[in-house]
Amino acid sequence: MDFKDFKPANNIQDLQYFGEFGGVNPSISDSSTYTFLSAKTMFDTFEGNADGCYLYSRHTTPSNLYLGEALAAMEGTETANVAASGMGAITPTILQLCQAGDHIVSSRTIYGGTYAFLKNFIPRMDIQTSFVDITKLEVVEAAIRPETKILFCECVSNPLLEIADIKNLAALAKKHNLQLLVDNTFSPLSISPVTLGADVVMHSLTKFINGSSDTMGGVVCGSRELIDSLRSVNDGASMLLGASMDSLRAASILKNLRTLHIRMQQHSKNAMFLAQKFEADGFRTVYPGLKSHPGHELMTSQMNKQYGYGGMLTIDVGSLDRANALMELMQERNLGYLAVSLGFYKTLFSAPGSSTSSEIPEDEQEEMGLTDGLIRFSIGLDADIERTYELMKQCMVETLK
Ligand SMILES: *Cc1c(COP(=O)(O)O)cnc(C)c1O
Repeated sequence: MDFKDFKPANNIQDLQYFGEFGGVNPSISDSSTYTFLSAKTMFDTFEGNADGCYLYSRHTTPSNLYLGEALAAMEGTETANVAASGMGAITPTILQLCQAGDHIVSSRTIYGGTYAFLKNFIPRMDIQTSFVDITKLEVVEAAIRPETKILFCECVSNPLLEIADIKNLAALAKKHNLQLLVDNTFSPLSISPVTLGADVVMHSLTKFINGSSDTMGGVVCGSRELIDSLRSVNDGASMLLGASMDSLRAASILKNLRTLHIRMQQHSKNAMFLAQKFEADGFRTVYPGLKSHPGHELMTSQMNKQYGYGGMLTIDVGSLDRANALMELMQERNLGYLAVSLGFYKTLFSAPGSSTSSEIPEDEQEEMGLTDGLIRFSIGLDADIERTYELMKQCMVETLK
């Protein structure tokens, strides 16, 4: 594909699927299994030799393929496979690409579940991971071994919002014959990792992409070869581990995907407004859109500008007690919810050190700058962000004296 003028939202918009009766939405395939007109076709399908035939819904379904193709179009990959959750997309992909004895180099600031999987789970299969500061390319390269197969990072990391230099990481991956796997959950549309050289892009659809906090979902976008291997009935990790998405959910996520561009613009606009205000008020504020952010220029150089710097920001209020008091008051005043996850219409906030990143041992949290008083905000779609700011400011004045 030619990525010179890559427009992810246009790629979604340009898809055209009609439903079975001419509906403007594709029909939902409400079946777990599919009939064959001949026994021979069933055999061929099991052997992987009958394109376009559906077998059994753990393998895939028409609804899942519609959603997968839309997400592949958004990321610029040949195809994609959707899964029942973000972890249901990430873990099989890693297992599919690694054998016992292999090695992974991963950013140390990643989603807590992915971190726990790499650190505590796959060493049982004799797959080892070195965790590195992904912003230091020389440190990343030094960690690569002859048996390294995967370089793993998040474009905008969770929860510290570090920016990965995808272009240079892709060059490193190419030089050492690794696959660059990127989790783009925090920056859908804003960053198109494949256009920068990444091999595989994954998302938790549970977050911004679905955007209504009603559904779990995940996707892996990559080459036809990788996706076919994940779905193989004989040795495909997605097929055999079974974290398959349900068709009803795939259909509902596809409908929400169509407004993602509008939502990302509003999340970004609101987050930028609050980040600038909080910083001016003297709070330690981390947001990639701020000039003070160490990855600001890098983010600016690799983003699709119209979607902005995303909806995530953090402020450090000094201690967990202060963070908790502030979050409880903001919830009481209906400025958002004290909840993990992200991408909702309401602002969500949590203290990651004691929640979503609690899988990471305390000494390692400290080393990476994950402090107790850090609050992670997923800024909502508030229509009047100035009012929201005034009300939040009042909560801060009352709790952070
Ligand atoms: C939530 C999240 C995941 C895991 O996704 P689930 O849908 O919860 O399984 C992975 N990566 C990132 C960056 C996330 O925020």
